[in-house]
Amino acid sequence: MSAQGIDIVRVVYPDLIGADRARDLLVDQLPAACGHGLAFCRAVYHTSPQGDVVPIAGGLEAGLPDITVRPDLATLAPLPWEPGVAWCLGDAHDPTTGGPAPESPRDLLRRVLAHTADLGLHPVVGPELEYYLCRPDPSTPGGWSPYAPEPGNVYSAGRRGDPDGHLVSALRQLRTLGIGATAGNHEFSAGQFEINLTHSAALDAADRAFLFKAAVKEIARTEGRLATFMAKPFNAEGGSGFHLHLSLVDGAGHNVFADDSAPDGLSGTARHAIAGILAHAPALAALHNPTVNSYKRFGPDSLAPWLIDWGPDNRSAMLRIPPERGDGTRLELRLGDAGANPYLAIASAVAALALGIRGKLDPPAPLDGYGYRTDLAPKLPGTLDAALDALTADTELTGLLGAGFTEPFLAYKRNEIARFQQYVTDWEFREYARLL
Ligand code: GLU
Ligand code: MG
Ligand code: MG
Repeated sequence: MSAQGIDIVRVVYPDLIGADRARDLLVDQLPAACGHGLAFCRAVYHTSPQGDVVPIAGGLEAGLPDITVRPDLATLAPLPWEPGVAWCLGDAHDPTTGGPAPESPRDLLRRVLAHTADLGLHPVVGPELEYYLCRPDPSTPGGWSPYAPEPGNVYSAGRRGDPDGHLVSALRQLRTLGIGATAGNHEFSAGQFEINLTHSAALDAADRAFLFKAAVKEIARTEGRLATFMAKPFNAEGGSGFHLHLSLVDGAGHNVFADDSAPDGLSGTARHAIAGILAHAPALAALHNPTVNSYKRFGPDSLAPWLIDWGPDNRSAMLRIPPERGDGTRLELRLGDAGANPYLAIASAVAALALGIRGKLDPPAPLDGYGYRTDLAPKLPGTLDAALDALTADTELTGLLGAGFTEPFLAYKRNEIARFQQYVTDWEFREYARLL
């Protein structure tokens, strides 16, 4: 590594909510870190109303014990925006048991994949992430505004919607990083971009989606900007989605969703998988839409979902079936927002489709046309609280995810809701202060 001019290795691991927690290590410390691991504080952090990042109460009550993170050197890559620094993923271990930390998102995905492997099935995932690039703007409450004020640039590239060429610079750096980015474009709203990643085996796809988000946030900071993947950062602009393209291959690498002899080209397995995702959608929302802000992205005519429905090549449905068939046969789950933890979103989607296949569930009739009709399909949960209730009630799904993960996740998210409910927003003051 020193031959490549690397003197610092950044060990990055995804915490429970998918934030990238990291420590920079002088390269001569790497063998020791690979042996006994690097100590991190076992806590999930949040931002206080004063803007400080603090551990949640549960972490403090437990005395903020250690978690040990071991570098995964197979993921080592030099950072194009930080000469001399390479990063790699880390796996979180429980120092008392020596085994994987039960709340580790990466380990959760591994456990779910072991289950699908027992069924002889191997998920292939293609992540699509949208985000906003923001410029400093002290006149706004959050301190940031969309980077380029000009709207109406969906499916465009170039200087009209991206005056400083952010997208081409990001794509080049992502290529050097080897993250599997394929294409990018301006999205519907001002300052909003989408970058697509290649399809690959589920754990690799989750790793790349997680590192992609960290990379884009870093690249934006080198531009003096903020990249945010939160679901709905601005009232006047659309939300940011995290669409997942999902297929399954058997041990011989054949796509088991394809059936040329079926009128719609979809196999029985694909239909069961669709039914599994629909059946578990309210619980999936807790993991694909994991913030109080997430539910402000949902709504009719938003291209984000609102109802639990599916349809062939239908972007108004929660689950779209893209038109390619044969090896390209896949589902596009449009439920998630970009703020979701990629490991949790992918693990829960795979668990739901595996439950549909195991139970041989059948889906309702597909949607034909406009997908935002409440007389045709049930609504997704309208709040994080309702989604957490649905996750708690879905014991089939939580059984696959494991209590070691779901308990700390639910505790953290219930705490988030309690903090939000106590916080007076600017909307409330505007709505009530003069009238009441
Ligand atoms: N921004 C939309 C969402 O939140 C998706 C738009 C699109 O189809 O690209 O899901
Ligand atoms: Mg998009
Ligand atoms: Mg999409």
